[in-house]
Amino acid sequence: MTRRPYIVGNWKMHGTRAMLSEARAIDRAAQRHMKVEVALAPPYTLIHPIHREAEQIAVGAQDCHHEDGGAHTGDISAAMVADAGASFVILGHSERRQDHGETDALVRAKAGAAFAAGLRVIMCCGESLQTRESGGAVAFVRAQLAASLPPADQLPAEVADRLCIAYEPIWAIGTGVAATTDDISEMHGEIRALLVELLGADHGAEVRILYGGSVKPDNAHAIFAVPEVGGALVGGASLTADSFMGIALAASDPLES
Ligand code: PEP
Repeated sequence: MTRRPYIVGNWKMHGTRAMLSEARAIDRAAQRHMKVEVALAPPYTLIHPIHREAEQIAVGAQDCHHEDGGAHTGDISAAMVADAGASFVILGHSERRQDHGETDALVRAKAGAAFAAGLRVIMCCGESLQTRESGGAVAFVRAQLAASLPPADQLPAEVADRLCIAYEPIWAIGTGVAATTDDISEMHGEIRALLVELLGADHGAEVRILYGGSVKPDNAHAIFAVPEVGGALVGGASLTADSFMGIALAASDPLES
């Protein structure tokens, strides 16, 4: 089955209620680009307000705790973000791994909690500049992803609908310098091969693999033409409807971009 390109905005720690007008504009524009699945992951505080108004876009969280509840001051469980209107959660983002010391084992536990709460999971992976320059990028990403995903027998039966992978080289995030299409092609091919090993030929072939790292309207077209790129996880360029939907347009119909 060919899945629609999936374009997900990660607002990170940006956005107060003043940003709701931008979310509305993104939602309206998404209604004109039905060939693309558009989603937004705002800060926790905006999940419910955006979900309440959205007619087209899905709303997600940028993280969740690995336990269902308890004495964890300041944390939010998967069930809580689902209750607020999130249908998916981004896990294992490099900023969480760096800022909060999240290990592969913790990310795996979070994924288990997210699936149990009925959420879809966008599982992030990606190497540092030092790892890429040392020639170890492929081995690193394969190992990180294998250790961050729950074992196949603990994944939901409809895994191709519930899981997607985001390859985000750390050195490309927020730098304005995206990975080259050759590098993206090589890594997405490796991730596809790993998914087939882990999940079997059918499911492994269907899970979408997004690219993330300085995707902009002017490089999106070339990135979406790379084999095995099923969409994009977009940070900075998702903060305005104009730039975010410029990326969605490139995914929707290459002839229009
Ligand atoms: C991200 O943080 O997921 C990301 C891809 O950021 P940017 O698009 O700003 O590089």
